[in-house]
Amino acid sequence: MAERTGSESRKLLGRLREAMADDSAGQARLDKITSLIASSMGTEVCSIYLFRDPETLELCATEGLHPDSVHKTRLKLGEGLVGRVARRGRIINTANATQQRGFRYMPETGEEIYSSFCGIPIQRLGERLGVLVVQSKEPRDFSSDETYALEIVAMVLAEMAELGAFVGEEDALSPLHQQPVLFKGTTGQEGATEGHVWLHEPRVVVVNPIAEDPEAEQKRLDEAIEELRVGVDKMLQGAAGGDKEQLEVLEAYRMFANSKGWMRRMAQDISQGLSAEAAVEKEQSTARARMAQATDAYLRDRLHDLDDLSNRLLRILTGQGSNTGAEMPEDPVLIARNIGPAELLEYGRKLKGIVLEEGSVGSHAAIVARALAIPLVIHAERITTEALNGDHIMVDGDQGIAHLRPDESVVGAFRDKIAMHANAQERYASIREKPATTVDGETIAMHMNAGLMADLPSLKGSGAEGVGLFRTELQFLVRNQMPRREELAELYARVMDNAGDKQVVFRTLDIGSDKVLPYMAPQDEPNPALGWRAIRVGLDKPGVLRMQLQALLRAANGRPLKVMFPFIAQFAEYRAARAEMDKAIERERRLGHVIPDDITVGAMLETPSLAFAPQKFFEEVGFISIGGNDLKQFFFAADRENERVRRRYDTLNISYLSFIEGIARRCQSTNTPVSFCGEDAGRPLEALCLAAMGLRTLSMRPASIGPVKSLLMRTNLSEVKAVIEEARESGDQSARQAVMDYLKQQ
Ligand code: PEP
Ligand code: MG
Repeated sequence: MAERTGSESRKLLGRLREAMADDSAGQARLDKITSLIASSMGTEVCSIYLFRDPETLELCATEGLHPDSVHKTRLKLGEGLVGRVARRGRIINTANATQQRGFRYMPETGEEIYSSFCGIPIQRLGERLGVLVVQSKEPRDFSSDETYALEIVAMVLAEMAELGAFVGEEDALSPLHQQPVLFKGTTGQEGATEGHVWLHEPRVVVVNPIAEDPEAEQKRLDEAIEELRVGVDKMLQGAAGGDKEQLEVLEAYRMFANSKGWMRRMAQDISQGLSAEAAVEKEQSTARARMAQATDAYLRDRLHDLDDLSNRLLRILTGQGSNTGAEMPEDPVLIARNIGPAELLEYGRKLKGIVLEEGSVGSHAAIVARALAIPLVIHAERITTEALNGDHIMVDGDQGIAHLRPDESVVGAFRDKIAMHANAQERYASIREKPATTVDGETIAMHMNAGLMADLPSLKGSGAEGVGLFRTELQFLVRNQMPRREELAELYARVMDNAGDKQVVFRTLDIGSDKVLPYMAPQDEPNPALGWRAIRVGLDKPGVLRMQLQALLRAANGRPLKVMFPFIAQFAEYRAARAEMDKAIERERRLGHVIPDDITVGAMLETPSLAFAPQKFFEEVGFISIGGNDLKQFFFAADRENERVRRRYDTLNISYLSFIEGIARRCQSTNTPVSFCGEDAGRPLEALCLAAMGLRTLSMRPASIGPVKSLLMRTNLSEVKAVIEEARESGDQSARQAVMDYLKQQ
């Protein structure tokens, strides 16, 4: 039976190919296709519904329904059986359509007389294109062989270059990939930008989905799989003895490359008349659909592996590499599923914007994008399937959205926004050299956060007084192996050279939690944010810390040096870390290196515990830098990486502000310099309130200095303090509303 159906669907595909090859016009060709599917399947009706826009399906061709309803009948996504097939991306096959949940009959089509219904999603690599429907009067359940044959046909339909081109000229649908699409994601880095799509990994184009000779196709597939296996084995050999995690991924690759089930499914697709690459893509589409629904992280990872492997296989079969020879457009906006920090650095400042399907706010790619001040939107689902190289795109990093192929009205409004940004930048440039002195005469020192050499030019451009936080881990994260001491010393020296007489606060390596070095054994921890990270690693395995301290001392070469340790939770940790510094100084002195006269050693306050450390700690420590990103997550017990909870608690929550005020007071009482270097320091309203709580040094992204300074200079700090005080007295949960109201009045 399967054999018979196999040859049937091969015949059907053969006729389909003829229909696709002849030179009838778009609509006529689509009509021909529906009619030959209906006759091959022995059904009265065959219809093709296509997306008119992401929410609306339109009947575009039919055999059997009223011809007048073509291009008239429209359904919303999820509406009726057709809409449900489209939304869920799954087949609905029923002998009695009217009894089926969600049934809705469209009177203009005359479909009420048809009892059986089989709807197949037309999709391409997770991208929804439309629905293929067959209907018949006789109540019949379509057999699994029949639905399989229809799936194959839908796959071929999906491959037709632009389904839109098949539609009647007058009331034509815009061809797919030409309509505007709005992507709602999450902010990774603020800023508005406009440019043209540059796909990090352009997709493989399958030009001939139908094949005449299944045996020849199977041979092509076998050879390609062999090549793939050899490639994976080579990678495994290359990685042997290296990073465990990478090995695990490659092992999973090898497992898939030898997976009998995967191979069998593709062989079956080929026997039905698909070409080798269409078979690979069909299974990839199925895997992508599962990926979209999988909630289990492990399963998602594995499906991801399979997806990557399918891409490799497609590239082998089609000979299309990731470098298609396409030229990078002007003002490139990078579009990718995800990207590593090293790859991103390679693109560097060329990019105008970045939009990712995955990624997280704290990911390394996001850190690099921020360092380069490139607007970044993450979690823009399905953008890699929608966007084509060169497409016009507008990225709004502030709102976390991207407009692909925007229409006129969006372009106008968006350009206004960009202009406003530019105006503001001009305004900020005019106050660049001025101190951030408030109306009532309080001056707040403005420093910037950095982590790459690429950040240093901003020291001048932003008007920052110094680097309040230099995240040294970025240099470790963007490499494939542990950097050497000499390399680091040279780099730190260059940072100091660039900074001139402005101070740089170097933070020693802060790894663990979300920051995992590719060349260090990953720790399997139930809760990495509370785990073996930052100074805990530094003290337990002091080799790297010592190397770093030596490199810093050598880089300073007699110049003043400021170093701080991340994530100090108790006094003893500070003392132990400080002792490492003293030892390093001794060692360097013995080796004959010049030791700076002025070395200041500080601690980052990132856990509430340190705020309650003994008085002696505050007396001993050289300075304190409040790491608000971590401190806030521990204060509220709300993971900074978890989208569900990370915005749940307001920074201007009265309890949190009171806590910050307490820290500022303690530092004041011991004359301990204190600054704040978390992300909140770069948000104008938050920065203002932090200053009102007594902080006089803030360190932030360079791009935030202008907006923060501008607000500070226009505001009376003691009045803001009084407003917060009042909010506290009245029992408000957050001071935000009160402070905003006050500012509006001003
Ligand atoms: C912080 O926690 O506020 C901080 C500045 O450190 P990081 O964001 O690198 O953890
Ligand atoms: Mg931190």
